[in-house]
Amino acid sequence: SSTAEPLLDIRSVTKDFRGLRALDDVSLTVAPGEIRGIVGPNGSGKTTLFNVISGFYRATSGQVRFAGRTTTTARPYTLSLLGVARTFQNLRLFGQLTVRENILVALDRTRTHTIWQYALWQPGVVRRERRLRRRAQELLERFGLADFAESAPGSLPYGIQRRIEIARAMAARPRLLLLDEPAAGLNGEEVGQLAGIVRSIRDSGTTVVLIEHNMGLVMSLCERVTVLSGGGVIAEGTPAEVVAAPEVIEAYLGD
Ligand code: ADP
Repeated sequence: SSTAEPLLDIRSVTKDFRGLRALDDVSLTVAPGEIRGIVGPNGSGKTTLFNVISGFYRATSGQVRFAGRTTTTARPYTLSLLGVARTFQNLRLFGQLTVRENILVALDRTRTHTIWQYALWQPGVVRRERRLRRRAQELLERFGLADFAESAPGSLPYGIQRRIEIARAMAARPRLLLLDEPAAGLNGEEVGQLAGIVRSIRDSGTTVVLIEHNMGLVMSLCERVTVLSGGGVIAEGTPAEVVAAPEVIEAYLGD
């Protein structure tokens, strides 16, 4: 609800690349439990905004706050420990590993034992291995991937590969999940499955922000949508409100 403390609070963020202003005084807040859509023409700054939130780029000016902390200068690794996870526009799966191994790698990122404990294969290490394998199996089942667990990701349909990427991002049990064009390249049936997955992620307590060109999906998933154009926020509201806004219509006609 609007009275809740925002999970994500972006205050007057500007991002310059040499002569180019990719983000221009962007402010937006996302409440816990929201599914927020970010839309806008190509080059409007959507991916740059994700990169600033997740620490891949540092804002030139302004402030980013996540879960009540200032994270403006935090690195990606720190943000992932704080609970920010993301997917990328282009899939980034390990092609040499099976689907199960791709999930295990994501689960194994926070090493809690020394290399010597591993070498000696102590009881604590064995228990942790078992726990990771159990968590991997849970994630495979939750995202409908159990049947493909021992396959190479590259051999699977694109819609399944997208699901593997989301499962990997969810391995860290994030509080905020950033999805960069999750429906790109999916067929109608796969888009329907994706909508169900995103809703179940939100219902399990993870706030979702998605960049998406598929307006049908945005309409069906998002309570609120933020529209970027030329690096600035030109509209924000319900999907029905923003598609009717003259600024938005004009921005898309000029695309
Ligand atoms: P969108 O995701 O909405 O298509 P982007 O955030 O990718 O837009 O890009 C916004 C603008 O910033 C574009 O003009 C793009 O060329 C520029 N840009 C993005 N990343 C970089 C970078 N690393 N270096 C220079 N320019 C960049």
